[in-house]
Amino acid sequence: MAASGYRGRLAPSPTGRLHLGIARTFLVAWLRARGAGGTLVLRVEDLDPPRVIAGAEASIRQDLEWLGMDWDEGPEFGGPHGPYHQSQRTEHYRRALQRLRQDGHLFDCSCSRREVAAASNAPHGELGPRYPGTCRSGVQRPGQPISIRFRMSPPAPVFEDGLHGTITADVCDDFIVRRSDGLFAYQLAVVADDAEMGITEVVRGDDLLSSTPRQLALFDALGAAPPRFFHIPLVLGPDGKRLAKRHGAIAIGAYRERGVAPEQIVGALAATLGIIPPGEGATPRELLTAFDASTLEIHPVRVSPDWIP
Ligand code: GLU
Repeated sequence: MAASGYRGRLAPSPTGRLHLGIARTFLVAWLRARGAGGTLVLRVEDLDPPRVIAGAEASIRQDLEWLGMDWDEGPEFGGPHGPYHQSQRTEHYRRALQRLRQDGHLFDCSCSRREVAAASNAPHGELGPRYPGTCRSGVQRPGQPISIRFRMSPPAPVFEDGLHGTITADVCDDFIVRRSDGLFAYQLAVVADDAEMGITEVVRGDDLLSSTPRQLALFDALGAAPPRFFHIPLVLGPDGKRLAKRHGAIAIGAYRERGVAPEQIVGALAATLGIIPPGEGATPRELLTAFDASTLEIHPVRVSPDWIP
């Protein structure tokens, strides 16, 4: 049993194979948790069934183990905060939604994505078009599919990111917590889960930095203590865009199939984070003594798939 109160999580979406970018973020999550003598939870974020790919969850778990990362609670051996698949947690999300509804934080909305995009002339960031408040005081087009939005009151929460410092949101709009097709939205699910699983620190990619103020508003509305946040810069492809399949074979499994050793990958990822010099192999455990979160490299790195020879 872990001695410290630190609780972290690895929260993969089973929508494809584990690739370099996510492995790098998970490596930091693992180092933070193990460095703190804490507990690490594996939570499978299979919330959106059409995006789930058969076999992806098993392959992600296999790749993590092959790289040398372990966890303490998760789908295969349970734990006190299960179930650990989001698809099996809808009752938890329903309860959170009910509480938010009772406390006046929600409203029904008939706007389609296209209507929101057409009404919003601000440039779209990671969060998509800004919601102009159309249905705040009543559904504008009854009879249309209804989504449920969280009423965001300005100013949006400001927070201290472990890596990026003070973050002030540039968007503060009402966001969807249940989609018009009945699925719970990522924002609600992740906050309900982090709250109920007692997560004390979230380490994830900085593509989610702009979601954090929304999530902090949800923690507050649910009366739950928020975790600390640590947003890791993304790995970019040679063209400067987020590293993705179109850049080539970046899946951890593809390197393994080529005969690359796990220590080579972990060492190369650690070098991009400034933990060890380039060219050295390492296991995650061997990195623990050199790992210092305060000196992590905070700029995005560019790699090409043949970067690990
Ligand atoms: N499942 C999400 C992803 O793979 C991560 C969500 C989170 O860390 O909050 O992008």
